[in-house]
Amino acid sequence: MTTIETHLKGLAVSLGQQLHAAADKAKGSLPKARERLAEIFHHRHVINSAMEGASPDSAIHDVARQVEKDVAEAMAELSSLELAQDAAEAAVERAQSYMPATHRGSYACPQCWILENITTDLDALLMASAVQQYECPTCSYAFMVDSEYHPQAALPQAQTPSI
Ligand SMILES: [Zn+2]
Repeated sequence: MTTIETHLKGLAVSLGQQLHAAADKAKGSLPKARERLAEIFHHRHVINSAMEGASPDSAIHDVARQVEKDVAEAMAELSSLELAQDAAEAAVERAQSYMPATHRGSYACPQCWILENITTDLDALLMASAVQQYECPTCSYAFMVDSEYHPQAALPQAQTPSI
């Protein structure tokens, strides 16, 4: 593996760890969200029973409207947690399968692959003779490498001071 591949692979691993934590967090919040929804459903059931025979101008109708709002809110919260968990788990799997080098001879952006499930070739921008910058045209992820730089090797022999 080249230095660049090692760098990219390292980034994928740390991104994978963050996503793993995010998936765990969403998973940890699920029981509470389900419990809350069950409570609201129960509340709605009680209100609906109480509404039978209630006069049209009874305050129970306001309570019922509020309960419907609570139901919608709790369902939305639960489904967004489930989506977040699914998305994070899928991204964790992509982090594990990430391959830095593409068959086109370029490097694939780890962020795009892991977070967005798309393959974007990193642009190689030459900043200075010793420093190479890579940048993603899609997500703007960028990094520089200069580890290929060997000062001694770069010095022409003629400039070596003679004692
Ligand atoms: Zn990208």
